[in-house]
Amino acid sequence: MGLVIDLSAIVANWKTLAAKAEGARAAAVVKADAYGLGAERVAPALYAAGARDFFVALASEGRVLRPLLPEDARIFVLSGHMEGADLNGLIPLLNSPEQFFRDRALRPKGAFGIQLDSGMNRLGFEPGEWAAIRAEALAASPALIMSHLACADEPDHPANTQQLAAFRAMTDGTGVPRSLSATGGILLGPDYHFDLVRPGIGLYGGEPFGEARPVVTLALPVIQTREVQPGESVGYGYSWTATRPSRVATVAAGYADGLARALAREGRLQLWAADRAVPVIGRISMDLITVDVTGLAEVPPALEILNARQGVDDLAALSGTIGYEILTSLGRRYERTWL
Ligand SMILES: *Cc1c(COP(=O)(O)O)cnc(C)c1O
Repeated sequence: MGLVIDLSAIVANWKTLAAKAEGARAAAVVKADAYGLGAERVAPALYAAGARDFFVALASEGRVLRPLLPEDARIFVLSGHMEGADLNGLIPLLNSPEQFFRDRALRPKGAFGIQLDSGMNRLGFEPGEWAAIRAEALAASPALIMSHLACADEPDHPANTQQLAAFRAMTDGTGVPRSLSATGGILLGPDYHFDLVRPGIGLYGGEPFGEARPVVTLALPVIQTREVQPGESVGYGYSWTATRPSRVATVAAGYADGLARALAREGRLQLWAADRAVPVIGRISMDLITVDVTGLAEVPPALEILNARQGVDDLAALSGTIGYEILTSLGRRYERTWL
């Protein structure tokens, strides 16, 4: 019951992605608590499997992981050196001239990397800014130069080759290890791999890595079941009304647990009792979801909403979002078990 996270599947996905980028170091992106699955468990498991490079969004996330990983693990901070950040033992990916000068003034001997903008216009030095400080930055031996692809999940998007060319133009001949690709970029092929790849979502079983092993099972405890007569309604707004004698199960999770109301908007959300699907009926409440279990001979103690049949991308499609958002929204109230 609760949220079961298969660490061996995460490790297997990391190894498969690493093998696709042969010759490059395979890092692991563990920002946002390893996409909601528990960075304090995921990062040490990937270290044990051979990962030595980890990426977090914020220095505060890196601070939590630093004592859990041996010294030869490098923890890169994607937001770089923000004012007031404690970067002791971490490697900021400096992403503007302002950050560069702040970092060099405050940690003149501290390890750092450089983040370049190759077209996404989100983070990173613009080509002109980079040209202006390039010599000074290279003299200080950056650990890594990286950029990020905006459209890697669309292999035919022209931005991919444009960003690749822009990244090459800014980094060829620097002699510094380079990184351009997250999960989507790994799948674009060897031109995109450079020296280090940064998979995130693919480790956790999400698109665009279609071969991923499923990682999460989420089973919602049944609190009670009841008989409902034809003409009786269920839940807020009476949006579902029985047309036959029905059995309704109420399970303990709702939109406060990351299961958005929009998941049920088209009436197509299903939960699972082993291999049998049962439809969610009525509206999703803050803490409760109602399910039509009339078709089940026996109602199990819990019904699954995430499993090998219904993954994060299936849920995402129902509510008009992406698997990343389903994972990172998973509620704090679930009992978590790591296998
Ligand atoms: C989140 C992120 C990644 C990981 O991306 P996935 O698509 O989850 O593999 C890699 N690099 C950067 C800069 C990111 O922000």
